[in-house]
Amino acid sequence: MNIFHAKNYLKEYFGYENFRPGQDEIIQSVVFGNNTAGIMPTGGGKSICYQIPALLLEGITLVVSPLISLMKDQVDALNQTGIAATFINSSLTQGEIERRLSEAELGVYKLIYIAPERLESPYFVKYLKDLPIPLVAVDEAHCISQWGHDFRPSYLKISDLLKELPSNPVVLALTATATPQVQNDICSSLEVEEENTYITGFSRENLSFKVIKGQDRSQYAQNYVKTNEDESGIIYAATRKEVDSLYNKLKRQGVSVGKYHGGMSDIERNEMQEEFLKDNIQVIVATNAFGMGINKSNVRYVLHYQLPKNMESYYQEAGRAGRDGGESECIVLYSPQDVQIQRFLISQNTQDPARHTQELLKLRQMVDYCHTEGCLQEYILHYFGDENAEPCGKCSNCTDDRQAVEVTRETQMVLSCMIRMGERFGNSLVSQVLAGSRNKKIKEFGFEKLSTYGLMKEQKQKDISHFIDFLISEDYITVVSGTFPVLKVSQRGKNVLQGKETVMRKETMKVEKVVHQENDELFQTLRAIRKELADSEGVPPFVIFSDETLRDMGRKLPTDSAGFLEVKGVGSHKNEKYGSRFLQAIAEHRKADETKEEKIETSNKKEEEPSYLVTYQLFSEGSDLEEIAKERSLSLTTVQNHILQSIEEGMAVNTSNFLTDEERRAIELAIEKAGPEKLKPIKEELPEEISYFQIKIFLHEKVMAVK
Ligand code: ADP
Ligand code: ZN
Repeated sequence: MNIFHAKNYLKEYFGYENFRPGQDEIIQSVVFGNNTAGIMPTGGGKSICYQIPALLLEGITLVVSPLISLMKDQVDALNQTGIAATFINSSLTQGEIERRLSEAELGVYKLIYIAPERLESPYFVKYLKDLPIPLVAVDEAHCISQWGHDFRPSYLKISDLLKELPSNPVVLALTATATPQVQNDICSSLEVEEENTYITGFSRENLSFKVIKGQDRSQYAQNYVKTNEDESGIIYAATRKEVDSLYNKLKRQGVSVGKYHGGMSDIERNEMQEEFLKDNIQVIVATNAFGMGINKSNVRYVLHYQLPKNMESYYQEAGRAGRDGGESECIVLYSPQDVQIQRFLISQNTQDPARHTQELLKLRQMVDYCHTEGCLQEYILHYFGDENAEPCGKCSNCTDDRQAVEVTRETQMVLSCMIRMGERFGNSLVSQVLAGSRNKKIKEFGFEKLSTYGLMKEQKQKDISHFIDFLISEDYITVVSGTFPVLKVSQRGKNVLQGKETVMRKETMKVEKVVHQENDELFQTLRAIRKELADSEGVPPFVIFSDETLRDMGRKLPTDSAGFLEVKGVGSHKNEKYGSRFLQAIAEHRKADETKEEKIETSNKKEEEPSYLVTYQLFSEGSDLEEIAKERSLSLTTVQNHILQSIEEGMAVNTSNFLTDEERRAIELAIEKAGPEKLKPIKEELPEEISYFQIKIFLHEKVMAVK
């Protein structure tokens, strides 16, 4: 047993060069024989924390996992890397279970996955006693706690099992969600010392968060899915009805879409899930019933069509994006009406008054997330107790540079129209009156005689209706729900009518591609090969290689087996099994490219360079950042980040044009007040227009001046 083998195994079996934060500490602790707990975010790489010890330790590692649907994928994935593993759960016949157990006795497997309910059977436990088990890994360990959100009584049997096993195994508890109370329960039940508890934080660097407000969400969602039609995504909607309706809309547009909710039969649901895992459908529209058993690694976006009920559910659902580490987006399409619906659901589902208040508070915090002007990722991390979080630079707030126009007069038009109509109607009738529609209902109520009738007739009714949505989202209008929703002028709206407040509206958020693919053609080819191999083996494509691995192939363009082994996520087993097939495609791609390459030799050289260096080069040649962003089809923030990276790498960057003298003075003053340690307090001291980028540049200039 040698801990130094851990890194070799990481490379050999999984094809990765380095451990992620926490992995090596956890592996060490386990291999040294300590009961250990690991708390890592979804996609943080928990599996490797017990899979590598399983290779290092003699005997069979037992993995307790609550999700039967996940087990098969996990076992398939291990077998793909060349590690012998199997699972035992209620989906198998008794005969099959016995067959697997006797194979285990013969030492065929390094890992066995079991469902916790197995431990309720004394007969089964007796079997386990005969096996050499050095390690018991407890996945989703929060299920052990009655305080957690997925308490599973059979998890309590694990500690009995540990006492009964003659091999006296080490235990490793893993989870992504654990409040201090849940952590406590895990550690006391499984006898883990505090010093052997590893918490890596909750941050997911590859996720970009967005909140879209005051925009037509159906339009946005359809647009988004179309724009990203090569990518996998999940859209969460609150009700079955909403799922069906959006599903039908997307279907009509020719999108390859599936759906999933409690009103469908088990068979239908399994089929949809399977099709999604296998990349046969691009996007799945679902209620929150979907996803517990999903570890599909190439989900590139998670779109919440309605407001989630709290940040815990949101982060868990959103976290299903980007498990492979690739850039991914998590978007909430916010509409204030949803708050009413969630409030209603809470009052229906919670009788206990203390709990009721608690749930409303959590909902409030979810709504605050949608309204914060600060960094979204920072908000999430603060929520989960990480005080040191800093602005991410890539969420929809950090990158918001949209222009705002004043719409005070239009707002007054809408509000006074509502008042003249008696504040008794919803969005559609109000917008019809403003547009001057000849609707029968308008005649019935005599609204065509109102002075506000047709007041905005140069606009389409649909646009007026979106404008009203915007006013609702900014709380100028309150929606009161009854038999149907009714619009009322809020306090803030009254201020506008009295001329005490002006209203600014920003342009709508544009839909963008999640992934800016460089070598797109090759990526598509590699993806097709992966799909073919996956189908012939009967496993989902992400089990063969992750998207990130395919991308890395595209970047490294290996020419031989040794080169292929260098690709992130390629271990020796997969190299042997699949290398030649992918290498052949890469070679063909090269050949096709060579002719092009000869012509544009110089510019091609640039393309092989890391992206930030290309930016640096252009900047040094005199282009300004906006020009570079345009030329390279990158966002301004990305280009700014390239400049910061160049500075970090110690390259000379002329920063004189990023700040005016006046801005320098302002930042200087802000730093005097807020101290130089953290960016956010500095930013808060400054006018809106001064960006984080500028503050970072200023701090860099200061450091250079001291040197
Ligand atoms: P979790 O169970 O924590 O959600 P997984 O164990 O499923 O996460 O790992 C998520 C992804 O990260 C997988 O695709 C896995 O192969 C990858 N991964 C794990 N460890 C590493 C590493 N050290 N380097 C690169 N990728 C890794
Ligand atoms: Zn941010």
